[in-house]
Amino acid sequence: MNKVNEKNLLAFIIDYFTSIGCDPAEVNNYFTARRFNDGIVLNLPAVCLLPENKPASSKSNQTHIHVTSKARNFFYDSAALDNAAVSTPWKSQMLSISESNIKALTKEKASASLLVKDTSMMTKIECRKSQEKQVQLSKISKDGRLFLDLRRGLYENDIIIFLKYRNSEKFFVLGMPRAFFKDSYVFETARKNGALKSETYTSLVSQKAIPVRAAIEAVLEEHSSDEVIESEDAISDAVYQSLVDCAKPGNTTYSPVEYVEPDSEGSAGKSRRPAANPSLGREAIEYSRFRCSVDENHHSFMKPDGTPYLEVHHLIPLSQQADFKYKLDTKANIIPLCPNCHRMLHHGRIEDIEPILKKLYEQRIELLRQSGLDISFEKLKSFYS
Ligand SMILES: [Zn+2]
Ligand SMILES: [Zn+2]
Repeated sequence: MNKVNEKNLLAFIIDYFTSIGCDPAEVNNYFTARRFNDGIVLNLPAVCLLPENKPASSKSNQTHIHVTSKARNFFYDSAALDNAAVSTPWKSQMLSISESNIKALTKEKASASLLVKDTSMMTKIECRKSQEKQVQLSKISKDGRLFLDLRRGLYENDIIIFLKYRNSEKFFVLGMPRAFFKDSYVFETARKNGALKSETYTSLVSQKAIPVRAAIEAVLEEHSSDEVIESEDAISDAVYQSLVDCAKPGNTTYSPVEYVEPDSEGSAGKSRRPAANPSLGREAIEYSRFRCSVDENHHSFMKPDGTPYLEVHHLIPLSQQADFKYKLDTKANIIPLCPNCHRMLHHGRIEDIEPILKKLYEQRIELLRQSGLDISFEKLKSFYS
């Protein structure tokens, strides 16, 4: 039996969508921890079903889905729950929903695509005397049509799952028939008799991707000495830019610093690109007053702290360190650039790169010489072609 928890809730959902015939590539690409950060699984007892789906034995006229105890916090924060002295008015919650999910539940043939559409659901906090406040979901006269279509496909002890998008207020909603998970999945903290009431899974973890934060931490751990990174692939460059972003700026000079080959011990198999210190990058960005060195009018986007986002580039690539006695990871050689210019220097055509390189060379050659790094323009250009 597979246990469903915050590490594999998304994999569980991916399994479901692939089982109904949706394209695995699309499904894998959609249900990632990059997109969703929170999830809740609600079991649907008879009382929470649409009237026509309730078992004959049920005498309930209830049409909403009620949510109690901790699970309420998925929909309302504690303050809102505490402050509600009387029932709150219904409000509309935006949802995304898969039409293929609805088709599968109603035994129509699902399409190979998820067909994600917008819909909505009403929610409120219900306060009753001598009862715990509850959250109510769904008011059938006001819910979106697709959400009601989904509910029409759900019967006793099926489940309904809500996922929170990382960067919007919207939820993704899906329904799953009990037959899909019974005997193959259990929910991590489901009660002893196997009955699931509700489970919330916060901070969903992707099984495949390493979150950037964790990657940065891994790098920092590996190089605890001087917050440095090595290896020259795109990922390490991205990690380096992130480290630059949160580094304290250094306060260095243009004096030459002799390059000392680090102990090769422990770094066997890694690239020959020498380590870069993010605090020098930070210093360069602040020294440039957050402007691109190619053209100070180049536009970059703002970071949440209100300063423009800039990257740093080593004019003489660090991979050429072997040809230089003095350090290439030094103030004179570190150029703040807008992301577009930076990508262009790495991935552009040489005829577009050359004029920019010339400009940067002329800006920097005196400082490079002060730092013990003398180089002709032709030689520098050869590193870029
Ligand atoms: Zn670069
Ligand atoms: Zn630029």
